[in-house]
Amino acid sequence: MKGRIVVKVGSNVLTRPDGMLDVTRQSAIVDQIAELTKRGLEVVLVSSGAVASGRGELRGMPGTERLDAVEARQLFSAVGQAKLINRYYELFREHNIHCGQVLATKENFADRRSYLNQQGCMNTMLAHKVVPVVNENDTVSLSELMFTDNDELSGLIAGMMNADKLIILSNIDGMYTGNPDDHDSVLIPRIRPDDDPSAFVSAEKSSLGRGGMLSKCRIARLVAAEGIEVIIANGRRENILTALADNADVPHTVFEAAARPASGLKKWIAHSDGFAKGSIHVNQGCAEALTTGASLLPVGVTAVEGAFKTNDIVTIINPEGHTVAWGKATCDSGTAQETAGKPGMPVLVHADYMFLNPERLYSSPKS
Ligand code: GLU
Repeated sequence: MKGRIVVKVGSNVLTRPDGMLDVTRQSAIVDQIAELTKRGLEVVLVSSGAVASGRGELRGMPGTERLDAVEARQLFSAVGQAKLINRYYELFREHNIHCGQVLATKENFADRRSYLNQQGCMNTMLAHKVVPVVNENDTVSLSELMFTDNDELSGLIAGMMNADKLIILSNIDGMYTGNPDDHDSVLIPRIRPDDDPSAFVSAEKSSLGRGGMLSKCRIARLVAAEGIEVIIANGRRENILTALADNADVPHTVFEAAARPASGLKKWIAHSDGFAKGSIHVNQGCAEALTTGASLLPVGVTAVEGAFKTNDIVTIINPEGHTVAWGKATCDSGTAQETAGKPGMPVLVHADYMFLNPERLYSSPKS
């Protein structure tokens, strides 16, 4: 393994059944990251566990049972994140490695300037051999603007940091054909860019953080489509990270990276779904042309929704109502509406500023 990797550790890896922080596991993860950095890898750690650790810490405190969901998240994450990062700091220090805390909200990634600012900060940390330890800023993030889970955050970070690999550590060995507890479910070792995992991955929600298995799969496919290999493996297995680095025979699922890596701008657009200011509906012919690399021309547009400005992100939707791509609009919504359906008009979204949804292949009729 070479280069830069993003390692995501889920709450279910870091917390014990009684809800307290599993310091032994946390320490084992840090030992492995220390080993990888000694081998010359740059590692970014995306760690959950703030809410779980705060909940464990404040257990039994009178009044906490009356908190609503938002208040509980804010209180527990405020206490838990302090505890979590403190432990990481001490654990990395034993290896003479510095770590630093990066707390992000989804809004930090909404405009390109903030995104590049965040990227610059983490590049500076890595250049100075400081391991960034990233989590969502749960104390201030607004419920409606939260990441689905830290898988989504780690996908965004992997793209932003131009990582070579994203490793998502959970409490199961990878993607299964059904519920991992069922005897007839089997581990899927490899998912290629053209595979349709929804055909064999169970839609059943497992205990995998906020998102669940399908959301994990969706993020992994998106990141793989950007040209970054994604591995889902079991963070509770001994030395899983070093075993993966050694290409040892350990259970995991790998999402093969697309052959052509996306540009930095496209990687940002790939994660822009929640920031889109409008939608452009297109006819089937146009949707198919986009998937072959064409730019979006007004002639294929059937409707324009929302109020957007030039350079805002828009979602491009096929006649079935599925997202084909996300892209940067070259004009505002008023102009887009005026030119909709007309031939010979300037490009609405250029192919260089568009990212195709890897799930489009399975959510729209095939010709
Ligand atoms: N940011 C949350 C925490 O640290 C975890 C979100 C998730 O479930 O992935 O507690």
